[in-house]
Amino acid sequence: MNIVVCMKPVPDPRRWGTLTLDARTMLLRREEVPAVINPLDRNAIEQAVAMRAGGTVTVLSMAPPDAEEQLAEALAMGCDRAILLSDSAFAGADSLATARALAAAIRRIGDVDLVFCGAYSLDGSTSQVGPQVAELLGVPDLTHVTALGLDGGTLRARSATEGGETLYECDLPAVVTFDKEVNVPRLPSMTGIMRAASAGVTRWTAADVGLAPAEAGLAGSPTQMQNTFTPAAARKGEMLEGSPARMAAALVEKLKGSRVIE
Ligand SMILES: Cc1cc2nc3c(=O)[nH]c(=O)nc-3n(C[C@H](O)[C@H](O)[C@H](O)COP(=O)(O)OP(=O)(O)OC[C@H]3O[C@@H](n4cnc5c(N)ncnc54)[C@H](O)[C@@H]3O)c2cc1C
Repeated sequence: MNIVVCMKPVPDPRRWGTLTLDARTMLLRREEVPAVINPLDRNAIEQAVAMRAGGTVTVLSMAPPDAEEQLAEALAMGCDRAILLSDSAFAGADSLATARALAAAIRRIGDVDLVFCGAYSLDGSTSQVGPQVAELLGVPDLTHVTALGLDGGTLRARSATEGGETLYECDLPAVVTFDKEVNVPRLPSMTGIMRAASAGVTRWTAADVGLAPAEAGLAGSPTQMQNTFTPAAARKGEMLEGSPARMAAALVEKLKGSRVIE
């Protein structure tokens, strides 16, 4: 079973208080906050390492060069190989250009049975990348999966929905995106850390995966960021003061006055 895990480095949520936006590009100044593995991508790595059954787990990122640190951690968790798509041509990619780069790399890896992603990233949170990779590869996608098993050649997945659960069945190859309920990710082991140091990270450019400049990064992105803003609050809050009984009485009067209650 050959599995590719798409892993996105995201700003460490413990440091989000210090994140700022670049006023010109409207993008997060990511260099100000250290990156960590997107939490749901840890679940994807755990699932891949547990299901590999003699095959290979490749962790794949499209990210700046310092993502090698998160890729090394993924190797220490048990992945066999790490690939970093790193090229200035990838800068400014929206979710489609991101998926296009990942799909092109997966084609170059070749002989892939499963592609695992997180259901969403902690920063962008569009949930689009997994399904877009599946569409570009022309394979089924199972999203927000909370349990996964392989029965012969058939993939069986369970996914929680608002009103209950959905059960999926499909053939391989497929793309699966995971919610956190699927497993408890392992911590890197000492042997894993030593193996990661010797395994190293392979770097590919846009040209290495067969992408023309017009297909990558901002040039290949149909989404253009126009503005970003905090919506103005339409309602005004009013604080009542005094004892609980006095505040309750004042609230009842106000609700009667605005005909919310009789
Ligand atoms: C016009 C525009 C310009 C942008 N420019 C930049 C920029 O310059 N720099 C920047 O950092 N962001 C930029 N972004 C944001 C960028 O588009 C998103 O970070 C990216 O598309 C992933 O979307 P998401 O975080 O919503 O992923 P989701 O779909 O929520 O992620 C789901 C899963 O997909 C996988 N995944 C997502 N992204 C990656 C990745 N890069 N590598 C491997 N796996 C991945 C992971 O498994 C993840 O758990 C830009 C966005 C727009 C619209």
